Amino acid sequence: MPQIAQNENRRTNILPGFPNNLLDFQRMFSNEAACLQYLESVRWPNGFICEKCESIGDPFRLTKRPRVLVCRFCRHEISVTAGTIMHRTKTPIQVWFWAAYLVATQTPGISALEAQKKLGIARYETAYQVMQKLRSAMMRPGRDQIGDKWPLEMDITYIGGKHKGGVQGKTNKAPVIVGVEVRRKEGINPQTGKRQRTLAGRMRLRKLPNKSATSVDKFVKDCIAHGATITTDDGTEYANLNALGYAHRPIAMRGDRAKMDLWLPMVSTVTANLKAWIDGTFHGVRKPHMQAYLNEFMFRFNRRFYRPVSFRTLLWLGTQHTGPTYRELYDGDWVHPET
Ligand SMILES: [Zn+2]
Repeated sequence: MPQIAQNENRRTNILPGFPNNLLDFQRMFSNEAACLQYLESVRWPNGFICEKCESIGDPFRLTKRPRVLVCRFCRHEISVTAGTIMHRTKTPIQVWFWAAYLVATQTPGISALEAQKKLGIARYETAYQVMQKLRSAMMRPGRDQIGDKWPLEMDITYIGGKHKGGVQGKTNKAPVIVGVEVRRKEGINPQTGKRQRTLAGRMRLRKLPNKSATSVDKFVKDCIAHGATITTDDGTEYANLNALGYAHRPIAMRGDRAKMDLWLPMVSTVTANLKAWIDGTFHGVRKPHMQAYLNEFMFRFNRRFYRPVSFRTLLWLGTQHTGPTYRELYDGDWVHPET
């Protein structure tokens, strides 16, 4: 009977395993062929499907062109990387895997400069593009709204920004809205080792065009479940939340740090971590790409208790689209996803 059991298994979604630590990673992905095979099984978890004739079945493989798969029914050729963030890349897939692993699992991620040095990438521009393409995959399309089960804290902060050349005091900071779920959970926080009553749940971040009610309204309608309870300060930009169907709790703070820590403790902590990360890892980021970095921070934060599996998730998300080209990144034609 084991044969039947195996065949049964083949018909269900079988995602490959994932490395639990660096040693696992090294064993699993010690060469290009192993990476390509893994990528194939993440992209087609139910077995290879030909994009042309839609037949399912193990493809032919070409020894001299290891990225290419050939449909055994219609002979259509497709590269494992075609249509993914690795589309037409000249960089070894092994380098992509290392970059994906480090950015998904290390608490501060990895900057393009560090990736360039650690992974032996010749040009900075290549490393930068690899990292930006990975970032473009960090937003899962059609993800859930938050706040359906737990109340939220929300605040707007200013994040940025490299100083604009020469003009003293003029910074490139942008308003960023932060919404965090507050879950009730008594016990010891595994990350800090301290006793706690609440725990930060999921988070949403967005760079706003300005600090206005219109921008806030759009964010909450996109990202926060209707009817959710939201605590904020008493700023006028939150004036419409009740009318939009949320249970709004505005608290007068007048910039009082102690009140902020009392009423918006989660959002204060998250904001401080976000700022420290952007300043420490990138020495500020440019406004047009701010959302990409916010998406990276969110990706890791929302998966902080599932770090090892997030590497596989990132690779899978990276097979769903091609991501920005170098030109799109520099011309500003690429819009980083924000919902
Ligand atoms: Zn085919």
